[in-house]
Amino acid sequence: MDILDLQIIAGITRKLSWFFHTTLVVIFMGCSTESQINDVSKTNGSVEKMIFGSIENENIYLFVLTNTSGIEMKVTNYGGIITSFKTPDKNGILEDIVLGYDSLEHYIANNSPYFGAIIGRYGNRISKGKFTINENEYQLAANNNGNHLHGGLKGFDKVVWTANEQTFNDGVGIKLIYLSRDGEEGYPGNLNVEVTYKLGNDNSLMIFYTATTEKPTIINLTQHTYFNLSGDFKEDILNHKLTLNSGIYLPVDETLIPTGELRSVTNTAFDFTAPHLVGERINDDDDQITIGLGYDHCWIIDKSDDITQELTQAATLYHEASGRVMDVYTSEPALQFYSGNFLDGTITGKQGVTYSQRFGLCLETQHYPDSPNQAGFPSTLLAPGEVYETTTIYKFSTE
Ligand code: BGC
Repeated sequence: MDILDLQIIAGITRKLSWFFHTTLVVIFMGCSTESQINDVSKTNGSVEKMIFGSIENENIYLFVLTNTSGIEMKVTNYGGIITSFKTPDKNGILEDIVLGYDSLEHYIANNSPYFGAIIGRYGNRISKGKFTINENEYQLAANNNGNHLHGGLKGFDKVVWTANEQTFNDGVGIKLIYLSRDGEEGYPGNLNVEVTYKLGNDNSLMIFYTATTEKPTIINLTQHTYFNLSGDFKEDILNHKLTLNSGIYLPVDETLIPTGELRSVTNTAFDFTAPHLVGERINDDDDQITIGLGYDHCWIIDKSDDITQELTQAATLYHEASGRVMDVYTSEPALQFYSGNFLDGTITGKQGVTYSQRFGLCLETQHYPDSPNQAGFPSTLLAPGEVYETTTIYKFSTE
């Protein structure tokens, strides 16, 4: 299945009823029955399940997914965290290209900066943690400089998900399921969430998010993997070349809340419409760079050339020395590019490596930050009877 097929399917599945949705998703996933789910055949790649540790006497698992060309992804049902992702460089050498820790204990104890995790209910910031739906006011945790960040004190990155192995005609995957209870972290409504990671034999990682709610609520799910395509965590990401399909970004105030302005990137350090090294302008004399300590902003994806308005190419990341390329496609309207500015050398990650400032970067597909308080931004409301449904693909290759 190529990107065009995915675009068409993502287009026709969006906003349909649950029944129709589920039927199409099953076709989309290329897997039909329970028995097939457990039938993990080597010709499709493989999924191995092992124990990663335990929380309150409950086993936490680590799944090792391998596709037919040898790409290997490790994911745990704690926070839906991708703990390792090995892809070949231009000489075929497999290396891990994501930041993280070696053990479950480290993820729990270290107050991880969301390494590899699923973020929800609301990825990114909500001003002062306040929002109103139908005249009901809600107060969420102000866990970041007076604002709400990434779902609060115990967001989806810190909960235990139910995980099921999946096989597809063209890859393997893990489906993660979580019921977020009415009132959890202050958000209204029981919310049923499913996130499927599919490791395709075309060297793509597809992430498919769905959710339904029992009360009107807000939602903005994303994935918080820190990439370093060099495969060498003693190197920063300033030598990565980034292209963003966006001519507009959202300037922020001192607390990183969008001011409401949609600003053109033209003639600024924020113009990635043509490829630029991340480090090229990261120290420019620009108020927004100063506030973000580098890049920590939301770009609005240009969908004008895309007639389906669904799965659009949002970004390309390229690391010349290794030859690794990562293309990002999404149905979401925006992308937060975070250049790892708050990594400060105090974190010791996998294999004892210290992660210093800008040793990893995140390309988080999502709706705009603070949408619940900004009438001009696309809505992040989810009502009972509606289906929240988004898709993002990270596609790996070499040049
Ligand atoms: C945000 C950063 C934040 C980081 C936490 C990113 O998504 O944009 O501002 O510090 O997450 O790890």
